[in-house]
Amino acid sequence: MSDPIQRDVGRPRFWERYPLDELSNAEWEALCDGCGKCCLNKLEDEETGQVELTRVACRLFDDATCRCANYEIRKQFVPECVVLTPKSLPDSAYWMPRTCAYRLLHEGKPLYPWHPLLSGDPQSVHDAGVSAQGLTVPEFDVPEEDWEDHIIEEPV
Ligand code: SF4
Ligand code: SF4
Repeated sequence: MSDPIQRDVGRPRFWERYPLDELSNAEWEALCDGCGKCCLNKLEDEETGQVELTRVACRLFDDATCRCANYEIRKQFVPECVVLTPKSLPDSAYWMPRTCAYRLLHEGKPLYPWHPLLSGDPQSVHDAGVSAQGLTVPEFDVPEEDWEDHIIEEPV
């Protein structure tokens, strides 16, 4: 499959050699593994701060491609959609999926071998079973009080 994310844009092994705030925009974008799990709704326990991922997806999420169906104008439909940047990452990392490349690097961990930057294949994230492909239910179909019935275990 062709990769919707441009990967051959950076310095060799840039994610291991440079801090996140020194990456070019293209290198930053290339870090996304395409899993789509940040577009799933989460439940946060107000007392413990624990975050659980559900398979209830954002209204714009397409789980066949694991992409946003209208990325350029998504804020018109989903104003709460977070734009992840090196600056916003420290505040957002705790609710990002545990396998998310941005969260891993923020926590000083290496990327998994299935990351397309390492495997050279965008399909490897789906084959590894760590993406949201074919996994979701639309948020229109599930009232918020039932989201806890759709919590998913994250691979770690
Ligand atoms: S969870 Fe992280 S790696 Fe996965 S799609 Fe979202 S930003 Fe990209
Ligand atoms: S608006 Fe698009 S990018 Fe934002 S959470 Fe929804 S599907 Fe994901």
